[in-house]
Amino acid sequence: MSDLPSNPRALVSGAAGFLGSHMCDRLLAEGFSVIAMDNFITGSERNIAHLDAHPAFRFIRQDITEPINVGPVTHVINMASPASPKDYLEHPIETLDVGSLGTRQMLEVAAKYEAKFLTTSTSECYGDPHVHPQVETYWGNVNPVGPRSCYDESKRYSEALTMAYHRARGVRTSIARIFNTYGPKMKLNDGRVVPAFLDQALRGLPITIFGDGSQTRSCCYVSDLIDGLYRLLLSTEVYPTNVGNPVEITIREFAEVIMKLMGTNAGVIYQPLPEDDPKQRQPDITKARTILGWEPKVGLDEGLRHTVEYFRNLQTANG
Ligand code: UDP
Repeated sequence: MSDLPSNPRALVSGAAGFLGSHMCDRLLAEGFSVIAMDNFITGSERNIAHLDAHPAFRFIRQDITEPINVGPVTHVINMASPASPKDYLEHPIETLDVGSLGTRQMLEVAAKYEAKFLTTSTSECYGDPHVHPQVETYWGNVNPVGPRSCYDESKRYSEALTMAYHRARGVRTSIARIFNTYGPKMKLNDGRVVPAFLDQALRGLPITIFGDGSQTRSCCYVSDLIDGLYRLLLSTEVYPTNVGNPVEITIREFAEVIMKLMGTNAGVIYQPLPEDDPKQRQPDITKARTILGWEPKVGLDEGLRHTVEYFRNLQTANG
């Protein structure tokens, strides 16, 4: 890991999103000053409201596809993008733009100030994978014209652009491939499996399983994920690094875990599997273990308990 400069100053895009807001908290706790950017297309002011009065935190409402003028920074962290299938299907053009034009603007800032650049890519780069678990050297099986392509190809392009700035302009870059992550500050209605199932369980509704529920995912609690990203930010690793929890379960098993945890028995209902929904997903995290000394610590039961508590408090606050 590299040492931090004496006055680290980070630019974070997507700062009002689920992961971006947790990243701002972590950077401030590590002594960074933070310039946070978001256009609120899917992020929420509520996620960063607690930082309003923080002396080292400044928020700028901006779409990062526009030129960025923030003055010198030591670190640039690119986290802006719709990330849930529901959100990127609703905003396919914005999703392509933020991964391409937005990433380019963020890379320009890093190049100008010789800042360290971290971009948050995704396990979707592997598409519906033929290699299992997914290791970083696997090039993936992505449908370039399917409904998910706006997200998958945008992220794949952002990786290619990041490598080009590294090779052609000498920018110090790192690429995180993030696998399914959950925790407080997710939107209850963003359509992803954890908030969807928790919302249904909290309201005593049946759980909606898409397909037959035999597809698998591996879910990482947000504090573990952010720790992996932070370590990668301070590292010199250039090639993509998987960050996620390798404990894999089927969606049907996942529904059972949620129902048991919440003490509900409204049952499950089956709905059609969305097009190109990956059948299996599990990160191979050998690389992150080796080069970052990182692995997840929070198990599913514990992580879900924290997440349920957050959603319950939200419900109470909203009446
Ligand atoms: N899923 C489901 N019911 C829901 C939401 C999602 O069965 O209400 C499934 C979805 O089809 C996928 C998995 O859960 O197989 C994870 O979906 P999510 O939207 O969280 O993210 P993805 O991993 O597909 O990007």
